[in-house]
Amino acid sequence: MRSTIKNSIFHLSKYLGLFALSRWLLRNKVRVLCYHGFTTKDEHLNVPGLFIEPQEFAKRMNYLKHKGYKVIGLEQAYQDIEQGVRQQDRVVITIDDGYVSVLRKAAPIMKEYNYPSTLYLTSYFFDKDCPVFTLAVNYMFWKTKVTEADFASLGIPALSNYKNCQLSKENKNKVSILIKEYGQPLKGNEKRVALLKTLGDILQVDYQQLNQDRLFNLVTKQELEQLEQCGVDIQLHTHRHTFPIDEEIAHKEIQDNKLVVNPLLGAPMTHFCYPSGVWSTRHWEVLEKENIKTATTCQTGFVDENSPKFAWPRILDSSRVSQIEFEAEVSGFNELLRMARS
Ligand SMILES: [Zn+2]
Repeated sequence: MRSTIKNSIFHLSKYLGLFALSRWLLRNKVRVLCYHGFTTKDEHLNVPGLFIEPQEFAKRMNYLKHKGYKVIGLEQAYQDIEQGVRQQDRVVITIDDGYVSVLRKAAPIMKEYNYPSTLYLTSYFFDKDCPVFTLAVNYMFWKTKVTEADFASLGIPALSNYKNCQLSKENKNKVSILIKEYGQPLKGNEKRVALLKTLGDILQVDYQQLNQDRLFNLVTKQELEQLEQCGVDIQLHTHRHTFPIDEEIAHKEIQDNKLVVNPLLGAPMTHFCYPSGVWSTRHWEVLEKENIKTATTCQTGFVDENSPKFAWPRILDSSRVSQIEFEAEVSGFNELLRMARS
């Protein structure tokens, strides 16, 4: 209901020319778009905030072209901001994590429009024949039709009493959290894969099929090369998708990320994206020492000369965002509302 009212207000504002006015007022700011995965099967129904259907993404790209926005690379935007170059209606496309669907679904669309983009690649699950663990667990619980299950057979101490567990929404949530807490710190990825296979048997969701469909798998080395050939620039997103305040661990996350990915690329990796958007000014010294040029967050906003280089805001897009909401963001109408509110 709330979103219907909101969308009606947006449509009216657009009709009254307020989107066009906002765009003109904020014409010199850079809009950095943020995407994650692109739907292959039904991922956007499972995690609507992370995935978008390819046809919706194509609509967004077409809108940018049709409206005359200039899609530029992240490095170009950085150079512009550094040198005080003012150009109108600049848009940067960024994509986080590195799901296979970036190559299979998004890259062909961006290539059609000749749009450059940046992929922030997290490297732990890169080039591995398995899905990202936490997403696979969530998906299996979302997908299952089973109403009662025995989780004691998983061999997880915290689940030893979950023998005849009714799969209510609450229990699904509780059990999946316990599985993720147990599985994430495991040393050796084979143990996590074995856990997913057993969980698949318990929930009657075919793990082999999930892995074969590669819904939550990251790209391989060969696919990374193909992405580069499509004009996708590859940048940093930590190795284990975590960036704690602890200086030593934070450095190691960036260095491990570089160690795995950078030898495969033609240029040094100098741009960074905070995993899960969690950031603090206490990270900045680490980023400075690692010669990072920009770091993007998941905070919503536009970039200009006054934006701290290690806290560039972005515009998050996913299947949760309607076309009119996207237009309200890109035009700057929402940004002006936020500015007015603060
Ligand atoms: Zn991420």
